[in-house]
Order: sequence, then structure tokens, then C-alpha cells
Amino acid sequence: MTLLTGTERTARRIHVRGVVQGVGFRPFVFRLAREHVLAGWVVNGDDGVRVHVEGAASNVEAFIAALTAQAPPAARITSIEVAADVVDVLNGFEIRASRSAAAPTTRISPDLAMCDDCARELADAGNRRHRYPYINCTTCGPRYSIVRALPYDRAQTTMREWGLCPACAAEYGDPADRRFHAQPVACARCGPHYRLVPLNASALHREALAGDAAIERAAAWLQDGCVLAVKGIGGYHLACDAANARAVAELRERKYRKEKPFALLVRDIQTARRTVRLDAENESLLTSMARPIVLASAVVDLPGVAPDTTELGVMLPYTPLHQLLFASGAPERLVMTSGNRSSEPIAYLDDDAERRLEGIADAMIVGERPIARRVDDSVVRLGPRGPVILRRSRGYAPGAAATLPVSRPILALGADLKNTVTLVVGGDAYVSQHIGDLDQYASLTAFQETIRDLVSMYEVSWSDLLVVRDCHPGYASTRHAATLGATAIVDVQHHRAHVASVLAEHGLLGERVIGVAFDGTGFGDDGTIWGGEFFVGSVRDGFDRVAHLHPAKLPGADAAARMPVQAAAGFVGLLADAPSLAEAPFRWPPTYASARQITLRGVRTFTTTSVGRLFDTVAALAGFTREVSYEGQAASWLEHLAGQSRSDAAYDMPFDGVELDWRPAVRAVIADRCAGRDPADVARGFHHGLASATARAVEMLARMHGVRTVALSGGVFQNQLLTTELVDALAHSRLRLLTNSAVPPNDGGISLGQAALAAVSA
Ligand code: ZN
Ligand code: ZN
Ligand code: FE
Repeated sequence: MTLLTGTERTARRIHVRGVVQGVGFRPFVFRLAREHVLAGWVVNGDDGVRVHVEGAASNVEAFIAALTAQAPPAARITSIEVAADVVDVLNGFEIRASRSAAAPTTRISPDLAMCDDCARELADAGNRRHRYPYINCTTCGPRYSIVRALPYDRAQTTMREWGLCPACAAEYGDPADRRFHAQPVACARCGPHYRLVPLNASALHREALAGDAAIERAAAWLQDGCVLAVKGIGGYHLACDAANARAVAELRERKYRKEKPFALLVRDIQTARRTVRLDAENESLLTSMARPIVLASAVVDLPGVAPDTTELGVMLPYTPLHQLLFASGAPERLVMTSGNRSSEPIAYLDDDAERRLEGIADAMIVGERPIARRVDDSVVRLGPRGPVILRRSRGYAPGAAATLPVSRPILALGADLKNTVTLVVGGDAYVSQHIGDLDQYASLTAFQETIRDLVSMYEVSWSDLLVVRDCHPGYASTRHAATLGATAIVDVQHHRAHVASVLAEHGLLGERVIGVAFDGTGFGDDGTIWGGEFFVGSVRDGFDRVAHLHPAKLPGADAAARMPVQAAAGFVGLLADAPSLAEAPFRWPPTYASARQITLRGVRTFTTTSVGRLFDTVAALAGFTREVSYEGQAASWLEHLAGQSRSDAAYDMPFDGVELDWRPAVRAVIADRCAGRDPADVARGFHHGLASATARAVEMLARMHGVRTVALSGGVFQNQLLTTELVDALAHSRLRLLTNSAVPPNDGGISLGQAALAAVSA
């Protein structure tokens, strides 16, 4: 370094906030300062990273510009403050020891996909980590899934039991090395390994294999059509050759997963392009650090992988093990589904996985590094208004999804389906990973574990917590609230939470909006089952329900969600002129007639305004008369059926300012089906009709209430066709349209909405 005298130097004090710890930020600053011939230091503080630099003024400027422009891919900088500082005439640049944090307010990074540098070393026969499946560095590797406590330090991770060999220790201690303070750093000599454990008596070989041999054998077994349990970042996956229909069918049968689509792990981006239709935006989602499952239109036929839909969910390798499996000859497209029996939480502890996956998997690839907590794969789809996270988990959790104006800690418990919880600390709303449906004992346990985990990680005291729950008296999450020892509990209505989730992630808590919440079910203010609601108001002042779907009936609430024809009995069955639907072209099973009797007598029958059940009704009329095997299946089937039609027709759904009337549309659907019209055209006409009716309703309400912004949320808006048509229909209205992106429009977003509504009153 050419040393400038003190008077020739300019000094700056820089404070960087955001996700800047555990992502290689300090080594990056170190290298950058050297590049720009600057002296100074960098240190991790309790609220971000602090930097002091001094040197030639132009170099200081260039350094500051590069700080954001070239930041490590996983860093998320939320603010940079730069101030003039005193020149200390320092002799070089150093990384100073972290100041101990008073409270762990630093954000823990989500898990990061393997970086290109590590991928290169993995494949390089001359590198000492050649084919080592736990390779990582400061810009990649596990984070959230290995942390046991904050601050993020090796001794507090699941890597604590492995000491560093001299070579790894040297890298860990060298500020110029890209593994400087990489907490999970390891190599084949000092770190954990994988082994292959046969489970099934029919497995081709009985002996357990370790290391490289285990991976090569696993790849060969996948090639042979075996089902393998593969330990990943946040849990076990079940994998098989996606092109092998027999293996796929076998996996479905063993896992009790009848029809719900399986996600795919494909070898590389070229294979992804030969699997689904991709554009630049989709590809950048697919290759992003989070490496989510991306849903896109299928361009290949893989029998049994995703029945009834024209989409496939695809992801790219994100662990070294994935890369090694493909390099060892595994089929280029692998089914990669959560390691569990249907609807249970993903297995992540080795013993538990072995117990639960025996009988499903032929063998397990067990890795020695323990997983601290379960984190499923995330799911994203590119919607008409950009990416929408449909399941927010690995790669995103536990990132802050919003900032809320509240200093008190808040714990929002979410809904019972697609559960997530949100913990607000210091105004940052940390949305948990996907937990699942709480009707299962195992999921309920996972829910309790996740709550304890987050609360202890952020060192929040239970008695300070404001707990927020749904209004549904029957929800397990609602009942759980009382057991937490919190001094305050707030109830938030389900659909208001949906609308608030959109406004929270956009930071618009004071904005007066028309809020539209369309979903399957939620407990309403009047004790009926809501799901087609229009609100006016803001998060800050609350939401008034001003309109809704014309009420229908729901015979035998929960069963109706599984049998579309039973839900239909509460819609079609109410029409005075309802025809018999037992004959062609409908041929509905007897379930319908008995459900209709129940509806007419009013036994075990509830009032509902659910748009989700309206979708089920129309799906049943269009031909989906069997039981659904996963939530939302009939609606998804109807959407993909509609995608096959080019019809412009739209069924009429009048709106009178208070009620959106589905009856004329359902009558017309019946008449068209009787007249022999193509069910695809019928499905399309329903989507057109609902989209344009909703647009008209929104415009009328916006005029009536003098509001210029619209917020859409609820599981129904996962429907790409409906959402696209609604966005188009509102394009000319000059209304500002807000939708979910960072949290799901489905019930996975409820906890954030609950937290936002509670935050403004806390
Ligand atoms: Zn790396
Ligand atoms: Zn080592
Ligand atoms: Fe919902």
C-alpha cells in the first residue's frame, strides 16, 4: 500500500444494516478495501456491520459505491449510512473481533445454495475438497438449518462436534480467504460424511457404504428405479427417477400420496429448459440463492408426476450432494418430495427418518451433519405481477418479510392450514418456515417446536409477548395460544389477516383500500364460514366488511371441502329449479343427493360465502366428481381445464353493492353442460365471469368509498388464470393494485397479516 500522509487521506465511517452476517460480508469488505488501497477496519456489531476506511478520496468513493454494487449474493443490505470520520492514519485494513451483542437483533441468514466457486472445487480433481459433499464457504451453505442459538458462531451450530484440521483452520482464520469465518467449513479429513443405509429387504445390496462409494451406489440405485431417502439441508427428501413411471407410482403408493404433484430436482439449467417453459425471469428465480421450486408450464410428459395439471415444479441442485449424485450418473430428472407420509411434517432427525421412512424408501443417504430444524423447499411461481412465493421456507425463512411500527414483541400463530408463525422483534417481522396442516398430531408438535425455537433464538420473554391468533374457536392454533403464558392475546379475523398480509409486506399500514379476500374457509364475525369477502379500511383503522359472495350452504363442513359434489349440494342444491345431477352429462355419485337432503333440512349445515367452494361446485359441474386428495385440487383441475379453451364467453355474476351473485352463472353452467358444450369452455367462462364480476365489484366499491387502492389475497388468488384476468380487467381502472409476493396469498401469509393488525394496536 502506498501510504498517504494523514492530511492526504479522507476517512469515512460506514454502517451497513440488513442481512450482512454469516454471508461473507466482512471478508468481502476486507478484499474490497485492499483493492482500493484503503486502511481501516470492519467489525460485526449488534445491529449490522461497521466499517472505517481511510485513503485517497476517490478510492473511498469507489469503495463505497462497490460496497452495494458488488456485495455477496446472499447479503441483503437494507441501509448504508456514511459519515465523515477522523483520520487515524492506520497502516492497513483489518477484520476486528466481533463486539458482543447485548441482544441478538442481527438477522440470521436463510440457507444458501452452493456457490459457483464451491461447485468448481467440488468437480476439480486437484482440489482438496474434490467430491466432498459438505463443501461450503462464506457465501454459500447452510445457515438457518444448522444454527442452534445466536450469535451465529461455529460453537452454536450443528458443526460444533467437528474440530477443524490445520488446513481448514488456516482458511477459517485468514481474512483474505473466501472461507474466513465460514462457520460450517470442513473437508473430507476433518468434517462429516455421508453413508448409504439399505432399508428394504429387496434392496440390491445389503451392506452399508460410506463416502464416495455411498454416493455412487445411490446414483446407480436411482438409475435402477429405487426410491431413496436423501438427507438435505432442512430435512429428508424422497427421490426417484421421474421418467420411470413405475418408480413414481410406487413412491405414490408407499407415501399415501395419491395425486398431489411431485416436485422435480433437475440436473442443470439445460435440463430445466427441457422440462418446463422458462423465460429470463423464471430462470433468475430458479438460479437465485434461495433455489426454490419454480412452477411453470410443463414441456415434457412425465406420467404420474403431476396428474391433472399442466405445470411442473422444478428446482436446481442446491447442495453439493445433489451435484455429486448427478455427476455420478443419477437420472437427469429426479422426483424430490418431502420425506414423510402424506401430510406429516418432513423428517429431519436421522432416527426418526429411519423409523418413518422404512417401508417408503429402499435406502437412505444419511449425512452426519445434524439438522437443527426442519425447513422444507420453498415454492414460487411467476404471476402476472412478478414472482409470488407460494410456500416460504428454505432460502427465505427466517428472513424478515416486513417491518412493523411496534417495539413490543409479537407472536402471531397463523391459521391451521399451511401454517406459519410470525415473530416480531424490534419491529422486524420474521415469518417462520412452512409448518404444515395442524390437524395432524405430528404437525402440531412441529408448530410448538417452531414457536419455542424462534422465541428462544431471539431471546424474547414469554410474558412480554403479545400473542395473536385466529378467531376460529376450533383451530388448534387458537387453543394453543392460551398455553403460552403470554399476558395478552388478540384475536384477528382470518380474511382481514389475508388483506393485512398484502399491506404489511408493502409497508402500507395506513393505506385505505378495498380488500378482497377469496379463499376456502375462514371463521367469520357472525360465526358463518367466510371466503368471498370485500372490505374497506386500513390496517391502522381496521377493515369493515362491505360486501361478500351471495351466501350458500355447506353441508357437513369439513367433508364438503373433500367432496366437490357435496360442496355443490350447498350451491346447486339451493336453486329451486335444480335438475337431477345423477344422469348424463353429470353422473354425480349418490353423495350429492344425500348432501342435498341434509342441506334442505338444515342438519349439520353451515352458511358460507366461500369462493373456494364455488370453484369446487363448478369443477363438479364440469366433471370433477371424485373426492379430492389434496386441498385445492378441484379448483386447480378447473383452472388447467380452462387453460385448454380459447372461448371469450363469460358467465354473468351480478353485483348489487353488497352481494356478488353466483346463481345466474351456476344456472348457465348447468344449461351449457346439458346443451353439450365443451367443459373446457365452461371452465373458461366461469373464470372470465368471476374475474370481470370481481373487477366490477371492486370498481363500484372504490367509487362508493372514495378509495384508490385494492389489495387482493386468499388462496383462490393462487389461481393464475383468475388473477391474470382480474389484473387485466382492473388495468384501465386507475386503481392501484396490491398483491402478495413475499408471503403466500394462501394461509401461509396469515401470520404476517395477524402480526400487522396486532402491531398497530399494541
Ligand atoms: Zn461457496
Ligand atoms: Zn478440514
Ligand atoms: Fe385463508
